[in-house]
Amino acid sequence: MSEITKDDILEALGGVIDPISGKDVVSAGMIQGLQTKDGNVAFAIEVPADKGAEMEPLRKEAENTVFALNGVVSATVVLTAERAQGSAQGGAQGSGQAAEPQQAKPAGPAQQQSADLLPGVKSIIAVASGKGGVGKSTTAVNIALGLAAGGHSVGLLDADIYGPSMPRMMGISGRPNSADGKTLDPMENYGIKVMSIGFMIDEETPMIWRGPMVQSALEQMMRDVNWGELDVLVVDMPPGTGDAQLTMAQRVPLTGAVIVSTPQDIALLDARKGLNMFRKVDVPVFGIVENMSYFLCPDNGKRYDIFGHGGAKKEAERMGVDFLGEVPIEIDIREMSDKGTPITVAAADSQSAENYRTIAGKVWDKIEKATGGESRAPKIVIQ
Ligand code: ADP
Repeated sequence: MSEITKDDILEALGGVIDPISGKDVVSAGMIQGLQTKDGNVAFAIEVPADKGAEMEPLRKEAENTVFALNGVVSATVVLTAERAQGSAQGGAQGSGQAAEPQQAKPAGPAQQQSADLLPGVKSIIAVASGKGGVGKSTTAVNIALGLAAGGHSVGLLDADIYGPSMPRMMGISGRPNSADGKTLDPMENYGIKVMSIGFMIDEETPMIWRGPMVQSALEQMMRDVNWGELDVLVVDMPPGTGDAQLTMAQRVPLTGAVIVSTPQDIALLDARKGLNMFRKVDVPVFGIVENMSYFLCPDNGKRYDIFGHGGAKKEAERMGVDFLGEVPIEIDIREMSDKGTPITVAAADSQSAENYRTIAGKVWDKIEKATGGESRAPKIVIQ
């Protein structure tokens, strides 16, 4: 069987009619970011911002139409809002995302939009890394739990749309409810509200979302989720420092960022890329967490400084950024995190849980400083 092509998909979508214009969704120019890979199809349908709920049947129809095609293994369709004139559009420099208008807009409406996006959320921090596999998600989870242990109300947003791991790490399964049919209630465990694209999509579904689609999914997870009142929302960013991450760092009204890095990364300057990305968009970098810093032997509890000691701290100083703390490579961290019982709750008395709480405490101090200790709406910076 030959691979399904974009043309095949567009042809089929030509039979799906937009109830507002009466035109089919392709001629009406509503299809965005169409991607197809090994029979997995994903795209967005652009709809007027105030018509999101009404257009759900159209989304479903488009999804079913594509899914019914020969050679389609999965179909993922999201609604994306048409951008009103003057709304926030901080186009990332050099982002190369053709579907995104790039003109700079006045700061006022953008800041207003950031407050509108998450009205009850006092601060938002990003947990990021220069590349994948360094323990960014594990760190995000345990910092979130450390913040909760400090008495703060915490949400966790899994923006790692390419590889969402929060459902597994936070031990949550099932799908979020929607009481009003418009907004989703976040899932909850260990006292933390959690939202992840992983709740909507099977873990097996390959993530072929790119650029604008990542943006719209992220914005939906902020705007269309009942986060309620939170002291802090921790955002687990997608790994790396490419265009999608840069745009995201710019769009999300971040109070600050935490960069997770392994000792090798710091030495290889991958961490510096993350640092530069946030500096470019004027988001304060709260500091670096060194993960897998040393080996904690389960047999004798002895610490082995495989990569030497103190290098990361020195390197952080050299880069002009604070060192927030170190976490060992430890079997318990991996096992507990993969089981959905993160070490900060499952072994709250362990040294590593203590390390995470200390890091979370430092992050909280930085949040207080950045927001003036008040319940101030975070700002978005437009270049
Ligand atoms: P990333 O988000 O950077 O891709 P993850 O947090 O998903 O990384 O971690 C990758 C793997 O490494 C996971 O299996 C996780 O349990 C494990 N891991 C992360 N940090 C540690 C650590 N300090 N000690 C042992 N295993 C860890």
